[in-house]
Amino acid sequence: MSSKEELYKVLLENSPYGTLFFAYGICIDSNPKAQEILGCDKRTLQGISLEETGLTEPLAVAAIKQEITSSLAEGLGDTTWQLVDGDKRETIALNVQRLGENRSELLVTLTPVRLSGSADTTVEPEHPAAGSSQQLGESASPHSGSETIDSFSAEIGGDAKLVERPVTEKATKPAGPGNVIDKLGGYGGARRYDADLDKDIYFDQLTGLPSRQLLIETIRQHQEETAGGKVCAALMLIDLDHFKDINDSWGHDVGDQVLFKVARAIEPMIDDTAMVARMSGDEFMLFFPYAGDDPEQGAANAMATATSIKEAVAQPIFYDGNEFILTASVGIALLSDHETSAERALQYADTAMYEAKRKGRNGIAFFNQSIADKAQRQIGLNARLRKAVDNQEFALYIQPQVDVENGRLMGGEALLRWVNADRVTNMPSEFIPLLESSGLIIDVGHWVIRTACEYIRNFIDEGIWEDHMRLGINISPRQFNDPQLIDVIEHSLRSYEINPAYLNFEVTENLMIEDVESVIKKMAEIKALGAQFSIDDFGIGYSSMIYLKRLPFDWLKIDREFIHNIHHDPESRGVVEAILAVSRQYGLHVTAEGVEDQQSLEILKTVGCDTYQGAHFSMPVSVDRFREYLAA
Ligand code: C2E
Ligand code: MG
Ligand code: MG
Repeated sequence: MSSKEELYKVLLENSPYGTLFFAYGICIDSNPKAQEILGCDKRTLQGISLEETGLTEPLAVAAIKQEITSSLAEGLGDTTWQLVDGDKRETIALNVQRLGENRSELLVTLTPVRLSGSADTTVEPEHPAAGSSQQLGESASPHSGSETIDSFSAEIGGDAKLVERPVTEKATKPAGPGNVIDKLGGYGGARRYDADLDKDIYFDQLTGLPSRQLLIETIRQHQEETAGGKVCAALMLIDLDHFKDINDSWGHDVGDQVLFKVARAIEPMIDDTAMVARMSGDEFMLFFPYAGDDPEQGAANAMATATSIKEAVAQPIFYDGNEFILTASVGIALLSDHETSAERALQYADTAMYEAKRKGRNGIAFFNQSIADKAQRQIGLNARLRKAVDNQEFALYIQPQVDVENGRLMGGEALLRWVNADRVTNMPSEFIPLLESSGLIIDVGHWVIRTACEYIRNFIDEGIWEDHMRLGINISPRQFNDPQLIDVIEHSLRSYEINPAYLNFEVTENLMIEDVESVIKKMAEIKALGAQFSIDDFGIGYSSMIYLKRLPFDWLKIDREFIHNIHHDPESRGVVEAILAVSRQYGLHVTAEGVEDQQSLEILKTVGCDTYQGAHFSMPVSVDRFREYLAA
């Protein structure tokens, strides 16, 4: 470090102003004063992203992100906001400045404001009711200095810190449940519900929407009334993606409020002929008795409606000063034959919704015969895969990994291939999902671990393996949860007398969806053996930065999607630079996946990536070919 840099560092450490430094929307540094103001430590602040909603973020962090984002959007340099902590209220002057060549870096300064007539920085609430939501929209501060007060405070229980801007005003005004009944009254003119209708059975208490029961009865009645007719009806199941995270991180009350708002967002997207019901948890079902005159028209209309509903759901939801951004997976079943029972129709929509989830969520899928056919084909393929496990038709290919700086071979990644009886080589994308769903992945995974160790043993014996080399082994969530996993790893290491440091287990963010604590525990056990961990396909998953902070990774592998475009898309390059900045903070080594040309490699060199793999050096190869690379 130059002496000038050191000087700056000392200044920042002791500054009476809080400072936060962001690169490409990601916080990469903070000083002690900022940590004190926001009530969290350096690690918590590092890696927070202005674009991602970290569901486990402290409220003060969520609040400041919102403040910075609005400040940028409104082009404001200086703003003032109130930080509420229990009954302490602190006024903070906030300054946001863009820095750097392409203004992609941000310096955020936080200065506690001393108010005249107040001995400390605490501001007494103006009204006894301060903090209650009725107060939103009124200035909560007696301050009348030169700064613009554009923030309003609200209190959230406990010792949480939160700043609430008057965003709630922008959010759509919730309609009372009464309007649902009006809507039903108008539904197709076909059904009327009188006031003594048993509300508990037919209406969902939280959202006021029709219940599953009412929906089913409505479909039944429709099927009876239109038997023999030609019109095409549609059922649409909307399931919120990762909704569980909101309940888990914010509690059920917040979850309920968000669901209420989602219901209100969906309602205006349909007309009076259709019905929207809440099925359970985060599932909503829409019934369109007249989706079109024929299936083709029905499909087109249903698709258009599903698209607008997805857009409505994706509008940020503001609640208690926090912003929730949701996506939904939509499954559509068209009902053109009136033979289909209501229950069966619901099943179809459900199957289609799972197809949408399977394709990566946030999508729309139709139930149709081809999905059913595909399921049938998969059953056939499943049987063949079972045999493949017995007949050992798998091969382990290896893709070399290379030092970006000097081209030195750093080891490789083991990648599974299935060479079936017809000598056709099948790629993982075709069969891994099936191995997963059938559970066969466990046995195949054990084989992969043992074989990887066997290969390394052979390379060592042949004198071509060097101590700095690592072999990457992919572990899917299901494999990771296998209680035998650690035993198998230990046993393989022992049988082949392999230094555990030669193994680098690659897991994806999907692993973290379930139970992060138990994942951390198991990772720690495997790391205690001496092996390493990589987070694979980084950047395309969900809330990536947040998991990065909590899990003990050694390596980060940037997904091909960003590397692929790195030399003609500044956005991708920006993402890669930001990922590198954060990785450095956490002491992670970085591998780029899918490097296909010299130009991309040059950029990776400039930005300081450690290693790469990809077609530019070599695609995955057989163990014999890999041996040649090692020996070269
Ligand atoms: P992954 O772990 O991200 O592996 C990298 C994938 O990127 C490999 O695909 C590799 O062939 C491909 N790739 C590498 N460089 C390039 C490039 O320059 N251009 C292009 N177009 N592709 C490149 P592959 O072998 O088809 O594997 C796909 C995925 O299957 C892997 O993604 C991994 O998630 C999974 N997989 C493979 N083997 C295993 C295994 O033994 N166990 C488990 N659980 N999953 C595995
Ligand atoms: Mg991998
Ligand atoms: Mg990958």
